[in-house]
Amino acid sequence: MPAIDDIRAFHDELTEWRRDIHAHPELGFEEKRTSDLVAERLEKFGIEVHRGIGKTGLVGRLRVGNSPRTIGLRADMDCLPILESNTFAHRSQHHGRMHACGHDGHTTMLLGAARYLAKTRNFDGTVHFIFQPAEEGQGGAAAMVKDGLFTEFPCEVIFGMHNRPGLAVGKFQIRRGAMMAGGAFFDIAITGKGAHGARPEAGVDPVVVASQITTALQSIVSRNVRPVDTCVVSVTQIHAGDAYNVIPERAALRGTVRCFSNTVMKLVENRMRQIAEGIAGGLGATAALDFRNLFPPLVNHDEETKFIADAAVDVVGEENVNRQGPVTMASEDFSYMLEKVPGAYIQIGNGDGEGACEVHNPGYDFNDGALPYGAALFTRLVERRLARMTA
Ligand SMILES: [Zn+2]
Ligand SMILES: [Zn+2]
Repeated sequence: MPAIDDIRAFHDELTEWRRDIHAHPELGFEEKRTSDLVAERLEKFGIEVHRGIGKTGLVGRLRVGNSPRTIGLRADMDCLPILESNTFAHRSQHHGRMHACGHDGHTTMLLGAARYLAKTRNFDGTVHFIFQPAEEGQGGAAAMVKDGLFTEFPCEVIFGMHNRPGLAVGKFQIRRGAMMAGGAFFDIAITGKGAHGARPEAGVDPVVVASQITTALQSIVSRNVRPVDTCVVSVTQIHAGDAYNVIPERAALRGTVRCFSNTVMKLVENRMRQIAEGIAGGLGATAALDFRNLFPPLVNHDEETKFIADAAVDVVGEENVNRQGPVTMASEDFSYMLEKVPGAYIQIGNGDGEGACEVHNPGYDFNDGALPYGAALFTRLVERRLARMTA
């Protein structure tokens, strides 16, 4: 029987797990309940569990037979600081915390594959089930690698998966090479001089400085980055002041940059510093830029891209696998693992009707209909990569 039919037999249970995780979301490096739950399940399946890799991260190891071959499968576990607007029964029980990126679903799909593989054991080699903390900009992948992920748990290849709203359930998409942008976060701290709101001549207004910097930063993409290079600069936060009649002393700008090369990222950082310092200086204030490169661009390796696409075809057929999927400007810190080990990252359909609500939106929910497809793909990767040699 194909794995997906076997997995469908416990679809209800997977749905229950997914909704339980959805109802109890935890931010990066705080995934205590989630990692307890994952560890408990893996142990129940008879899989060896190693905890504390990248703080709340954990790895399950399943060895069958004598082959030295290895494979790593990775899911992420963290939520976002968003107030959920959904009203269904499994909505978040943690105020201001929400699984708005579907990591509840990713964790469940990998657990589903673990359960199936631990039972059927139809392979020869070692599988490492990698449950990563803190994917949303806090460096969970790097923390796991730093704690010896790939030395303690060697992986010849590694694969990851993310849901994609707008793509029908039961479909997959991927592309070779660069698929997702590299990302940086920035802070610009502006210091002026506080004054009475009615006496601007006595102060240096950091609100005016922050506004002009925000506008000027938009010229980097339009005037400094080559038009053939793709780049986004978004100021996403402006903070200043507490009173109607006080010119504050300080203002803060924060935001993110996305692009596909380190050269462009460096160019943006340099221009940002010149613009912020120059505008602030011209207006009598000071500005300090803190620029943090968080995610390298996600680059799929050629051979493994074909491998995972072929495995997806085994599950859903060629007509449901797009091998020339689109590039996206979002980032993903699985890219950090792909810099260390060959592998690939695929997108799985979260639905094109109601399931089309974008990730990071307060009305988002992972589509439980996708669970068996994702679990079956993880399973298929193991059965293909670690296939038993017949004598
Ligand atoms: Zn996300
Ligand atoms: Zn995500």
